[in-house]
Amino acid sequence: MIEVCAIASGSNGNCYYVGNENEAVLVDAGISCKQIFERMEARRLEISKVKAVFITHEHVDHIRGTRVLCKKLNIPAFFTYGTYNNAHKSSKPTHYRFVHIDQPVSVGDLTIHPFAKNHDASEPCSFRIEHNGKSVGVMTDIGSVCNNVIDHLKLCDVVFLESNYDEDMLWKGAYPWPLKKRIASEVGHLSNIQALQLVTEHAQGSVLNTIFLSHLSGENNTPEIAYEAFTPLHETYRIIKTSRHDASDVLVVN
Ligand SMILES: [Zn+2]
Ligand SMILES: [Zn+2]
Repeated sequence: MIEVCAIASGSNGNCYYVGNENEAVLVDAGISCKQIFERMEARRLEISKVKAVFITHEHVDHIRGTRVLCKKLNIPAFFTYGTYNNAHKSSKPTHYRFVHIDQPVSVGDLTIHPFAKNHDASEPCSFRIEHNGKSVGVMTDIGSVCNNVIDHLKLCDVVFLESNYDEDMLWKGAYPWPLKKRIASEVGHLSNIQALQLVTEHAQGSVLNTIFLSHLSGENNTPEIAYEAFTPLHETYRIIKTSRHDASDVLVVN
C-alpha cells in the first residue's frame, strides 16, 4: 500500500507526501513547516512517519520550509550537490545527505529513484518512489520532456505532473516578456498542452492510472482550465486537481 497526497502544489510552494504503512518521505518542503504540519494533520497523515525529505532543486517554492522541518522531525534532507551548494543558507538543514543522479536511495521499504531534469537550476532532479512494485513520480519544474521523464513516467502508477500554464494566458498575460520567455523555455515549465502531449504520446498502455495536475501557475492557469485541457484523457485516467491553498485528498495506491 502506498498513500500519496499533494500537501501543497503550485508555483508558490510545493510539498508531496508518499508513504507506506510504516514510513513516509516528503518530496520538497516549499511551504513553511507549520503549514506542512497543519495540512498533514487535516488529512490525518502521521507526521512521525516522515523519515526524510527529498529536494528537487533550490528554488524557494521547493525548499522554503526544509531547515525547520528537518530540525523539528530530526530527519535528513537529501539533495544533489548542485542543489545543496546553490540553496539559500536560511533553508539549509544541519542534517543532510547527498543523492546522486540515477542512484536509488532506500528509506525503510521505500526506494527513491532520483533522475535529472531540464530546469534552470543547478543539478535539478525528479524523483520516483517505489514500494512493492508500485511507483509514484513527482515531476514538476520541467522545461522540456527528456527521455528520463518518459522512461520514469511509464513506470509510474501515479504521477504528480507539472501542468504549469495555459499558453494563451501566459502570452496574453501581464508578465514581463523575459519572464514569459523563461517560463516557456526548454528550462522553464511545462504547459497544460505539453503535459497532455507527454501522457498521450508516451504513457498510453503503461501502468499509469492517476495524474495529479501539479505546480499550477497562479497567474497563468487555474485548476479548472488545466483539468479542461486534459479532457481527452478523462476517460482513461483519474485526473486530480491540486491546490496551492490546501492539501489534496489522500489517495491509496494498492
Ligand atoms: Zn517550482
Ligand atoms: Zn523551479
